[in-house]
Amino acid sequence: MVTSKIPHATAKRLPIYYRYLHFLSDAGKQRISSTELADAVKVDSATIRRDFSYFGALGKRGYGYDVDSLLAFFKKTLNQDQLTNVALIGVGNLGHALLNYNFHQSNNVRISAAFDINQDITGTIQSSVPVYDMADMKEQLTVQQIEIVILTVPSSVAQQVTNELVEVGIKGILNFTPLRITVPNTVRVQNVDLTNELQTLIYFLNKFGDEEENLLD
Ligand code: ATP
Repeated sequence: MVTSKIPHATAKRLPIYYRYLHFLSDAGKQRISSTELADAVKVDSATIRRDFSYFGALGKRGYGYDVDSLLAFFKKTLNQDQLTNVALIGVGNLGHALLNYNFHQSNNVRISAAFDINQDITGTIQSSVPVYDMADMKEQLTVQQIEIVILTVPSSVAQQVTNELVEVGIKGILNFTPLRITVPNTVRVQNVDLTNELQTLIYFLNKFGDEEENLLD
């Protein structure tokens, strides 16, 4: 199926396509043109065609895309046909919020374990997720076959915790700390710096005001 490497920007758009196709399928729509899809997901149709071309010819000229087959295809590509358990490290304010959120919009991703050093919360269940002591991390990640971790510890310990995660064989880290962590190239990191995002938004609003400007990356 997907043999060649796909660009990062394309990979980031796949969940957007997937979510919208899901919506269409639930609404009973059977096909969609690339222009309609472009309007709905706010990605221009040339980009959509290019993105889809990495996966072979998924649409037919003059017909558009068959919603259900495209959905099935993305489901498989995004591993949404199986449940992915992820762990969360650092159950502070942000960690709590994410545990509570627990990706309810998706049936296929869930936080199944959390870890912390704070004895007040280890051994408890928060938002239906057990919180383990860091000393149990290796064992739990192995038993639960968890390869992806959400990092919400303080920046001061982010690298040290990352090193422990690398040692136990974690493959992906969603890094909510402002620290740019260092990992070997076998581990993938996605950074989500909320403060930075908000400051960028404020900067653009102050700088460009009401001017028509493409503020998206
Ligand atoms: P947030 O930054 O999410 O608002 P907070 O301000 O409540 O959180 P922080 O000091 O940032 O708290 O810590 C986040 C969580 O990380 C806390 O629950 C803390 O006990 C935990 N933590 C701190 N050090 C470690 C560590 N080395 N390993 C695992 N968890 C840790």
